[in-house]
Amino acid sequence: MVDTNGADRITVVEVGPRDGLQNESLSISTGAKVRFIEALADAGFSVVEATSFVNPNAVPQLADADLVMRSIRRRQGVRYLALVPNTRGLDRALAADVDAIALFTSATDAFARANVGATIAGTFERFTPVVERARDRGCWLRGYVSVAFGCPYAGSVPPEAVMSVATDLFALGCDEVSIADTIGSALPDQVSDLLRLAKEALPLDRIALHFHDTSGRAIDNVLAGIDGGVRVFDASAGGLGGCPFAPAAPGNLATERLLAALSDWGWETGIDRQAVERAVVELMAARGGERCLVGPAVAPPNEPER
Ligand code: MG
Repeated sequence: MVDTNGADRITVVEVGPRDGLQNESLSISTGAKVRFIEALADAGFSVVEATSFVNPNAVPQLADADLVMRSIRRRQGVRYLALVPNTRGLDRALAADVDAIALFTSATDAFARANVGATIAGTFERFTPVVERARDRGCWLRGYVSVAFGCPYAGSVPPEAVMSVATDLFALGCDEVSIADTIGSALPDQVSDLLRLAKEALPLDRIALHFHDTSGRAIDNVLAGIDGGVRVFDASAGGLGGCPFAPAAPGNLATERLLAALSDWGWETGIDRQAVERAVVELMAARGGERCLVGPAVAPPNEPER
């Protein structure tokens, strides 16, 4: 059973403006993105992953990262994360007053090569100068471990491999490490097995879990994560961002589904679910293209969850 007593809260990290929009073929104005991020912060999230400073040619959906970060009204107490892949991205991020940075690596060399053209070790070589300068500027750092429960290229991923990368990210100076089920194949037993190892060797209070609902198991995996001691979970408003490996299938766990489940289980999040739904409705109303990656597990924002 989940412990529903006491002051324990779950932190939900809202990744829709970055991880969601990056994977959607929507045309969204900078102004609409800014309003979306502001609405999410107003809804009560303490962390919003706002944008990415990757090469604009590679991810044109987020090419306006500089303007977005400069334009948002920053709410006190809210952390606005931005993805930074290299020193060029860091230059842009720092110029836009970013103070919380996300770094991406993978649990397998095969995925790292396909995704960013480097081995896992190669990604860490890129991170080192980024982290040094980001630390000098007082930035908060989050590391991501992609394909932690299954890889589209390497197949199964042993938990020891995830542990090794997560350990290295903490050693590098990450304040938090988010362990991601990028292809949505994780099973609750896998989550439990990994967290049993993590409990021995990692600061569990600085671990986040990032589940995809591709196989419909995201909520079960969250429950396994809570049982294993994790209190930080990523989710994407409206389920934005389909599965990059299964067209038209759900990707990111929808924030609304997560909030409904957490509420059912008696956990506090401090987040207003209706305000999240309104933020998604407003974003969709402002879009210039058709949304094409909506999966069946994602409830329409203005309809009941279940
Ligand atoms: Mg994701």
